[in-house]
Amino acid sequence: MSDNYSFFGAIEKSFDKAAKFTKWDTGILDQIRQCNAVFQMRFPLKRDDGTIEVIEAYRVQHSHHKTPCKGGIRFAAEVNQDEVMALAALMTYKCAIVNVPFGGGKGGIKINPKKYSTFELEKITRRYTSELIKKKFIGPGTDVPAPDYGTGEREMSWILDTYTAMHPGEIDAAGCVTGKPITQGGVRGRREATGLGVFFGVREVCNMPDIMGKLGLSVGVEGKNVVVQGLGNVGYHSAKFFQDAGAKIIALAEYEGAIWNKDGLDVDAVFNHRKTTGSILNFPGATNFKESSEALEMECDILIPAALENVIDGDNAPRIKAKLIGEAANGPLTPEADEIFSAKGIVVIPDMYLNAGGVTVSYFEWLKNLSHVRYGRLEKRFTENMNSHILGQIEELSGKKVKENAREMIMHGPDEVDLVYSGLEETMINATHEIMNLWKDNPDIPDMRTAAYVVAINKVATSYAELGIFP
Ligand code: NAD
Repeated sequence: MSDNYSFFGAIEKSFDKAAKFTKWDTGILDQIRQCNAVFQMRFPLKRDDGTIEVIEAYRVQHSHHKTPCKGGIRFAAEVNQDEVMALAALMTYKCAIVNVPFGGGKGGIKINPKKYSTFELEKITRRYTSELIKKKFIGPGTDVPAPDYGTGEREMSWILDTYTAMHPGEIDAAGCVTGKPITQGGVRGRREATGLGVFFGVREVCNMPDIMGKLGLSVGVEGKNVVVQGLGNVGYHSAKFFQDAGAKIIALAEYEGAIWNKDGLDVDAVFNHRKTTGSILNFPGATNFKESSEALEMECDILIPAALENVIDGDNAPRIKAKLIGEAANGPLTPEADEIFSAKGIVVIPDMYLNAGGVTVSYFEWLKNLSHVRYGRLEKRFTENMNSHILGQIEELSGKKVKENAREMIMHGPDEVDLVYSGLEETMINATHEIMNLWKDNPDIPDMRTAAYVVAINKVATSYAELGIFP
């Protein structure tokens, strides 16, 4: 990968490619493409050994066509302004496609979290939050962060605590951040949401006979050979849901290397092996590959890159053998890779909607925080009583008894996690069909990513137009 590669430039390229298939004038398109606000900050950290280090961090608000802005916070040594701008832009398009009423945002702190103690990470996170508060770059109605690469529930708790401490009495304060632990106002299902959304999106495409026919694959996820890169939050959960649906996870890759077994790997067993030994390598029964990137080039039906951006470019794309690529990470393919896959007829399911499960469930969490009530609390018992009554009537009228396992299924009133999963499933299915239908209706559109951008541009532009900014 060249040193002058610009991730934001790649997003602009994809945007421009899609803009040609829309009717909007260049002024509107320019307004959508740009980042509305970029906050770059530096602050000192006193390390545990007494030395002082300057921390570099960012928060970018790409679009204010809807507020609050929404997007994760990344902790990684590679963080830079170009990357955060690109990720914020993707958030705008992602939210538009899945009808989540937010503008795009993203945050990043340029640190390798593995090199800092928990105490140091807490200090960095709290100071970063204070800087956001000072500039009004955080709040339930302005900008709502979430987890991303290198962050999770713990960091979201620190953000929440810092925010609430500085906003005493603000009744909706819990909505200032999502991805929180359940006890701090989080929603059940958020942890696995991105991976589950990836699974729902890929499953929907696999259920389309015309697409699968063109790829020479049978319909459905069951029995498909899958390779997953990155065993973090998104990769682990994606792999798990594919395995549960009967797919075979034949290879898993982490940054220290990759493992392969043609008969399939048990995702939880690999996860626990890595936890106890510190490495994915030497998993019983599997073959080791020293280079993590080798996994990307293995023979398989479905490839799921779920680590970081730019892992498949013009160099390695010609060697990729997968027929279907599901972008679980943000930006794993460069525009050059896109061109190669499009020419070869490989279908790429694009990041900007495929990994939208996280933001979709974050939206549910935010709504829960604003409504101050757990999903299902009001209707669960009522529904169960009603179902029980209906079942009783059916049994009485038919003179037959319903089997015990079917009875439990019919009686069950929705818990929070049931509602979150079904809301997510509905969202991913609708988004997949909206993009695919637009692609099918416009045969000149070269790939699914371009079709997804067209859907996103149309929605954001319509929103601007309706605001009266562009009469
Ligand atoms: P994470 O930190 O939980 O996991 C990432 C994993 O990738 C880590 O285990 C890391 O060791 C591994 N990794 C890093 N470099 C690698 C390499 N070269 N080869 C193989 N593995 C490598 O992060 P995450 O939250 O799972 O995020 C992963 C990607 O998904 C990012 O692009 C992120 O922006 C995107 N994403 C995350 C969410 C979310 O809800 N967490 C939502 C949407 C998109």
